[in-house]
Amino acid sequence: MADKLICGRCSKKIDVKKIRTFEGLPVCPTCSEVLIVEYEKKRSQIKPEQMSKIIVTTSHFVENHEIDEYVGIAKSFVVMGVSFIRDFLSSFRSGLGGRTKSIERELSSGYIYALDDLKKDAVLMEADAVISVKIDSQMEMAGEVGKANDKMVVVSAIGTAVKLK
Ligand SMILES: [Zn+2]
Repeated sequence: MADKLICGRCSKKIDVKKIRTFEGLPVCPTCSEVLIVEYEKKRSQIKPEQMSKIIVTTSHFVENHEIDEYVGIAKSFVVMGVSFIRDFLSSFRSGLGGRTKSIERELSSGYIYALDDLKKDAVLMEADAVISVKIDSQMEMAGEVGKANDKMVVVSAIGTAVKLK
């Protein structure tokens, strides 16, 4: 007989092989889908004023504040697609001219989106700040290797969400 576990949401018995987790809670596949949809919905309902309260810093502390509690890791990804890369590649072909400006703009807006998204994670975790933030961009391949069309840039941000005293 297969091992069974109890779903942390609907209390149904589930086969261990089918178990999923949501924020550390073992759940059945149905509940997992529901929780992900709920999470996305909550995320999309976050108001700008909730986000603007969150302090985001690359340093390991917040000036004039003591850390009360570490609540988790906040993370975000922004995927920038094909047209951006085409511009990027053609700027090399044609020499770095006027194009560079728009690429810089696009890349920095990717950074801004990533940092904004990090704040959403912090709001959902009821944190006051995200410290030790690292932000990075990487060129990634999607689909067939070697096709310029399939390249994308991923801007990622990660940090430690904390409550302040
Ligand atoms: Zn369930």
